[in-house]
Amino acid sequence: TKLSNSLAQADISTALHPYTNARRHEEKGPLVIERGEGVHVFDTTGKRYIEGLAGLWSVGVGFSEPRLVEAAHRQMQALPYYHSFAHKAHEPSIRLAEKLIEMTPQGLDRVFFTSSGSEANDTVVKLVWYMNNALGRPEKKKFLARTKGYHGITVASGSLTGLPYNHMDFDLPVIPVSHLTCPHHYRFGHEGESEAEFTARLLAEAEEVIEREGPETIAAFIGEPLMAAGGVMPPPEGYWKGIEALCRKHDILLVSDEVICGFGRLGSSFGCVHYGFSPDIMVTSKQLTSSYMPLAAIVFSEKVYDAIADNTARIGTFGHGFTASGHPVATAVGLENLRIIEERDLIGNAARMGARMQEGLRRLGDHPLVGEVRGAGLIAGLELVADKATKRPFDPVGKAGLMAFEIGHEEGLIIRNVGDTLALCPPMIVTEDDIDEIVGKMGRILERTADWVAQEGLA
Ligand code: PMP
Repeated sequence: TKLSNSLAQADISTALHPYTNARRHEEKGPLVIERGEGVHVFDTTGKRYIEGLAGLWSVGVGFSEPRLVEAAHRQMQALPYYHSFAHKAHEPSIRLAEKLIEMTPQGLDRVFFTSSGSEANDTVVKLVWYMNNALGRPEKKKFLARTKGYHGITVASGSLTGLPYNHMDFDLPVIPVSHLTCPHHYRFGHEGESEAEFTARLLAEAEEVIEREGPETIAAFIGEPLMAAGGVMPPPEGYWKGIEALCRKHDILLVSDEVICGFGRLGSSFGCVHYGFSPDIMVTSKQLTSSYMPLAAIVFSEKVYDAIADNTARIGTFGHGFTASGHPVATAVGLENLRIIEERDLIGNAARMGARMQEGLRRLGDHPLVGEVRGAGLIAGLELVADKATKRPFDPVGKAGLMAFEIGHEEGLIIRNVGDTLALCPPMIVTEDDIDEIVGKMGRILERTADWVAQEGLA
């Protein structure tokens, strides 16, 4: 239509898009999304899509929740903005902090707000450094993270991220970090190595790195309970228990990055609860407000808080915080969103609908193009391979995945391809019919992608 064409033209001449091949974008133009309703979004031609990736892994309550609109409107009228610098506060941020402490596992009793997951992880780095300086151990600064982990794109959080395209030509990492092997058995297990042997090898590797570098230099281990943006990779059995034990043994803080897993995505309240470990610091965002407002919250232990608080007395202030830390409209929306998640038992819904989705997708796992189907709750990945028996990836990696992603648009399903892994992460309000429709569409996407692969002679 005229509107979509003119919008698309304007966009091409103005914007550099995140995570976009700019030159390809100039040729193709954007898919302009105009409105949302429940689990669906609509483009400017009126075409309807099931949002199989919940926007970007985040819109839990769906795209048209009136209670969140009202919460934002009410707060905009009452007090659209105030800060929390220098002993100020406002009600929504106080109430949301209380709610977070109530909902998160025991031992996480303090909260710091930022506007994004990246800012939150940058803040984690600074909290940990500040704490260790306050405790008189300035050499304890290094982070352990994992290859293919995703923790954001600011200079520090981007350093923690373990994906090549987030480092390449950005001169990252710039903070002291060691990336350990990605705990994904299908891709990183050695030939003939069982999952248990793989887990043992990864834990031995972690211990070896800690011993080699010296535990007195290692401040924290950060990880997503289930690695999402790097390709939807659940950890092997026993992995997190082992990592937790190593952290305790060597006095290393354990940070659970729950930006995607938090508030029910895996069918449990939090990813750390799902896998049975207790972090010292938890990072949440996205589902915290269903992404209606930009907001993230770091929830952490009294031990971390105390060391920091004592030090502020020495320096005179805590020299960190953003203009929008705990923004009243964002925190008001977050509070209402968490109430909705509880009242409607969306975590239970994620467990039930998640089981149905995993089962449906596993049936598609028989398709010759599918190497592995993986996930937990309402997040899943299907990895496309050139040879199912040998797990040989396509060459180049990502071309088949990109094709499947585009066929998805034609079929009315929005997914994401991480290389050749097709990622699904639908809103938490999905029904059985929605799940069946998503699985049905995924089946058609596979068929059409297989035809294209055969036509192209891609191998
Ligand atoms: N951590 C994780 C686990 C994430 O998935 C993301 C975003 N996808 C971030 C951090 C960064 O969040 P943001 O994009 O809000 O900066």
